[in-house]
Amino acid sequence: MDDKLSDRKQAARFLLDGIGEQRTRGGLVETPDRFAKAWDFWTKGYNENPKDILKVFEDGAETYDQMVLVRDIPVYSHCEHHLAAIFGVAHVGYIPKGKICGLSKLNRVVDCFARRLQVQERLTDQIAGAIFDVLSPHGVAVQLNCRHMCMESRGVCQQGHSTITTALRGIYSTDGSAKQEFLNSVK
Ligand code: ZN
Repeated sequence: MDDKLSDRKQAARFLLDGIGEQRTRGGLVETPDRFAKAWDFWTKGYNENPKDILKVFEDGAETYDQMVLVRDIPVYSHCEHHLAAIFGVAHVGYIPKGKICGLSKLNRVVDCFARRLQVQERLTDQIAGAIFDVLSPHGVAVQLNCRHMCMESRGVCQQGHSTITTALRGIYSTDGSAKQEFLNSVK
């Protein structure tokens, strides 16, 4: 068994012991194994590189110089402070400068950074930064609207509490009308 899988299983056993559960009871016997596999999937982004994901095309981008926007990309992540679920949507827009990428690749870039331990601010910024670096567009704008289980399920338990973060690069950070066009399009 690989060491990381074995470590994750051990962590699940410690957690079950720590909360006072009987990990020999039927429903929990295979939980460490399930936990280890689930966390492998939830953190698979550490093994992915956005430069490999964002396949760039120049053919088709010659004259297109307006916003490309993909809205409502699913976000599934975990907060690094509590290991609790973060989920919501991302809106990703960019204005090409001679290079475009497959639209589904924007989803995959979101996923590659979301499948790590995160804070929403860094996650938003990393998505924008990677697209800006690889496509060298006129600008990139990213907005995330997410719910945080560590915040909602504890303390004051405010239901429906969502957090919005925005990252802007290039023309979106220097031109107010470009920024406004993006913000209006993702409302
Ligand atoms: Zn948290």
